[in-house]
Amino acid sequence: MLDILRRIVQEVSTAEDLNQALDIIVHRVKQALGIDVCSVYLMAPDRQHLMLMATEGLNPDSVGHVRLALGEGLVGLVAERAEPVNLDNATDHPLFRYFPETGEERYHAFLGVPIVHHRRMLGVLVAQQHERRRFDDEHVALLITLAAQLAGAISHAELIGEVGPRRGTPRQANLQIMGIPGASGVAIGTAVVAYAAAALESVPDREPVVSVEEEIHAFKEAVQRVREEMESIKLRMNGVLSTEELLLFDAYMMMLGSDSLVLRTIERIEAGSWAQAALRDTIRESTRAFDDMDDPYLRERATDLRDIGRRILTHLQSGQRKIEDFPERTILIGEDLTATQLAEVPVERLAGLVSARGTGSSHVAILARAMGIPAVMGVSDLPVGRMDGMEVVIDGYRGQIFIQPSRELREEFQRLVDEERELAEGLRNLALEPATTQDGVVIPVYANSGLLADINPSKQSGADGIGLYRTEVPFMIRDRFPGEEEQVEIYRQILSSFDPRPVTLRTLDVGGDKALPYFPVHEDNPFLGWRGIRITLDHPEIFLTQLRAMLRASQGLSNLQILFPMISSLDELKDALRLLQRARDELLDEHYVIPMPKVGVMVEVPSAVYLAEALARRVDFLSVGTNDLVQYLLAVDRNNARVADLYNALHPAVLRALKQVSEGAKKAGKPVSICGEMAADPAAAILLIGMGIDSLSVNVASLARVKWVIRSFSQARARELLNQCLEMEEPAAIRALLNNALMQVGLGGLVRAGKT
Ligand code: PEP
Ligand code: MG
Repeated sequence: MLDILRRIVQEVSTAEDLNQALDIIVHRVKQALGIDVCSVYLMAPDRQHLMLMATEGLNPDSVGHVRLALGEGLVGLVAERAEPVNLDNATDHPLFRYFPETGEERYHAFLGVPIVHHRRMLGVLVAQQHERRRFDDEHVALLITLAAQLAGAISHAELIGEVGPRRGTPRQANLQIMGIPGASGVAIGTAVVAYAAAALESVPDREPVVSVEEEIHAFKEAVQRVREEMESIKLRMNGVLSTEELLLFDAYMMMLGSDSLVLRTIERIEAGSWAQAALRDTIRESTRAFDDMDDPYLRERATDLRDIGRRILTHLQSGQRKIEDFPERTILIGEDLTATQLAEVPVERLAGLVSARGTGSSHVAILARAMGIPAVMGVSDLPVGRMDGMEVVIDGYRGQIFIQPSRELREEFQRLVDEERELAEGLRNLALEPATTQDGVVIPVYANSGLLADINPSKQSGADGIGLYRTEVPFMIRDRFPGEEEQVEIYRQILSSFDPRPVTLRTLDVGGDKALPYFPVHEDNPFLGWRGIRITLDHPEIFLTQLRAMLRASQGLSNLQILFPMISSLDELKDALRLLQRARDELLDEHYVIPMPKVGVMVEVPSAVYLAEALARRVDFLSVGTNDLVQYLLAVDRNNARVADLYNALHPAVLRALKQVSEGAKKAGKPVSICGEMAADPAAAILLIGMGIDSLSVNVASLARVKWVIRSFSQARARELLNQCLEMEEPAAIRALLNNALMQVGLGGLVRAGKT
């Protein structure tokens, strides 16, 4: 049964539109459960009515005509109560409502289960049977499982329908889809879909890139290349495989020459699709026929076809994507955008990012903030493959996107873009002023960085130094570990650019969601696994090379600070310090003259909160990584869009933990800094000032805003607000109080930004 379930869900998820998805559901469920009727009712756009959208068993002409209010009839009852209803004789029930056009009077047994997606009622899945009987537990359980699994696919298919037929105008202008704020700012631009190479399912819809003839030519060429590949593989296997086994390659060759593959793809190109998407749809169509078969041998043919599809696609894709393929204002869209996909777009053309997966704490969102580019994350139902070339407006404050905006909406957002620019220009001078509170407390604001490209913007931004340099970024964009000399050069550049202002280099923090392409780590639970200091302590050869490079880069300078990530015990800290000492001793032996740098520990694991004082005693400073600390304290994956609304840096537990860290550091007489994204949130910054945090480190785009907050409050007032917040239980109430305080001192312009 599990297999059938998996196959139904898989088929539905590749449907080209909602109607096709629903037809697959009713057909396959009726067949799999051996029932007389299967129907799907969906909520109408008014959210008050349900409409019969597909049926197998009832009169097909009634589709689109049967309409029930919420709470009306048995289907309405299921939707209203969000609970299954299982009856042996539906007509006996007082709420039974008779629709003569359906012909359903013949069916007695009724089982309806709700289809719910992220707490939103989408509709009702109904099974009916002639005989009078209650459906047994197994049927109920299966239908509930199916409805739960299909909800995502239905919601996705609904949006595809709203986005409209590919290359046509959308059915609906201003189609609005909610996601999660990733990086603040507003942008208007043209969608470009980033997709993985040789992955058929991720190929987006697009018009022929050059001309229909050339697309057809490229496709035929690609098919010919695959034929040649097959011939040569067959030749090589001759003598290794038996004649019978070699027939497999003949089967491949037949598929490659078949009308259903070649002619159908050419027809699709002639109908206005580029070759890659035409091939995708042909392979999808043909594999669906095989997937439908019960014979496992024939089902395997679907795998062969997919393989052929991938091979042809690889040839079609060689040499694709040039700079001019990116429009002037590119909004990069992807299922799960990565740092490398972002880096492929010329910076001057990149206006915004949208990722169907991930959240504001994902590293790609952090990079977007560092580059000052608006981003919306976690738009889970986004029909990514349909988006290429569409005009899109993104609102990184609210985490919202609008597809094909109307002229009015575009003008409204253009006004916001202009206002933003004015605010940023107004703040530019302010950023160069010292960050001193109204009662004279200096709170340096440092920049977070990770790319050499952002050294200049960081310097011009008025940063008092670099509070967090994520060294893993230069590691991530190479195809091997950088050597000691290479690293010295990178670190030297940043240290000397800022000298004498401090630069905090964090040692390699990979693992979790940061993978090195050349050092794969596969784990079930990577955030609780081998990451950060755990990896570098296990690989002293990598750690020592990095520490030596940092120390050598600081020769003749005195602004290096070294920071250890993911420390969860005193032992780890002692080991790390021992290796640092060893690296320095080696260099002294090699006659380098290098002062001992300041050393800090990141507090980003709950255990480190409780050890704050003991850790602080052994180093020069603490730096709190709230991105991870919040995820570990609240048990909320920082990259998981499904639980993103539970991820909240103003949660009372987070505030108490931060207070404890600050007090621990004070007892040890050491300063404490905050380098997580929380420091860039104007409302949260007030609380951090109130806690007596010594410095903040934020993304460059937020630097001026944070300085503005510091200069607008006294520490005494911030402490007062902190004490009020510590009495409160709800993050939303804390947010409201702080937003109000910002408005009172004339910082209303930041309140919108405070939402991120
Ligand atoms: C943090 O966890 O808050 C932090 C600054 O580190 P990263 O975001 O790189 O994990
Ligand atoms: Mg971290």
